[in-house]
Amino acid sequence: MQIVKSVEQLRALRWADPALTWGFVPTMGALHEGHLSLVRRARAENARVVVSIFVNPIQFDRPDDLAAYPRPLERDLALLEAEGVDLAWTPDEAIMYPPGFQTAVLVEEVTRLLEGAHRPGHFRGVTTVVAKLFNATQPTRAYFGQKDAQQAAVVRQMVRDLASNLELVVCPIVREPDGLAMSSRNVRLNTRERAAATVLYRALSAAVEAWRQGERDAGRLRGIMRRLIEAEPLARADYVSAADPVTLVELEGDTDRALLSLAVFVGPVRLIDNMLLGDPPGS
Ligand code: AMP
Repeated sequence: MQIVKSVEQLRALRWADPALTWGFVPTMGALHEGHLSLVRRARAENARVVVSIFVNPIQFDRPDDLAAYPRPLERDLALLEAEGVDLAWTPDEAIMYPPGFQTAVLVEEVTRLLEGAHRPGHFRGVTTVVAKLFNATQPTRAYFGQKDAQQAAVVRQMVRDLASNLELVVCPIVREPDGLAMSSRNVRLNTRERAAATVLYRALSAAVEAWRQGERDAGRLRGIMRRLIEAEPLARADYVSAADPVTLVELEGDTDRALLSLAVFVGPVRLIDNMLLGDPPGS
């Protein structure tokens, strides 16, 4: 595996043989099985795989979250090597945002809801960095996780609007055996918080079960999730949503499909998770 920092080194390797297909997995490191599932899918579908590791400061709305974000770089590189990744790109802030940097990419409507409403500036940071990562790597395909459902929707919109020359692949959520969605932030939970953190999965699963039993009212589905979160003393809901899976607009009344999503503080750590009801978007 080659490890490079600069855009020039990255480009030279990416274009050494223009005939090859490249799969790209952008990450912020602290890799877990969720990230590795994207890497494996990219490995299966492309001749070459490039993974970026960059903790993007401009997408953090809370300085404490950025400061506490884990950065186990050597371990991450060993994991990528073991997965047969061809190229690890580890740019630093001076490469991504050199002095004089003054461009932002802004996706409008779909960023205003859910995470966007609760984390000011977050998606502006995400789309700006992802646009730069795409320009630098020019991959054949880029792999994102359904774990960050709104991020996937926002990047899909950006790719369509800017005519980015790549295929976006969104991969399923990888969970711990007890249902907790894998996240780089999970390591910050203490033992009691880690046990309480299953409340996101429990709340989503209860709403999915109610849906299976015939409940179609979006408000009542939100109520089921909210009650379970309120029953967990270490948890505090930031939002509880049953929204249109494409526009992310909150649904009212009966619905035949929905993206159920949650943001919940467990102790000091903010966790997100989601499940889809009905046919997935695009079907
Ligand atoms: P991050 O390093 O948190 O920015 O995540 C990098 C990519 O991995 C994003 O596309 C995430 O959606 C994806 N990802 C993170 N956690 C999971 C998970 N548990 N299952 C699937 N994909 C994930």
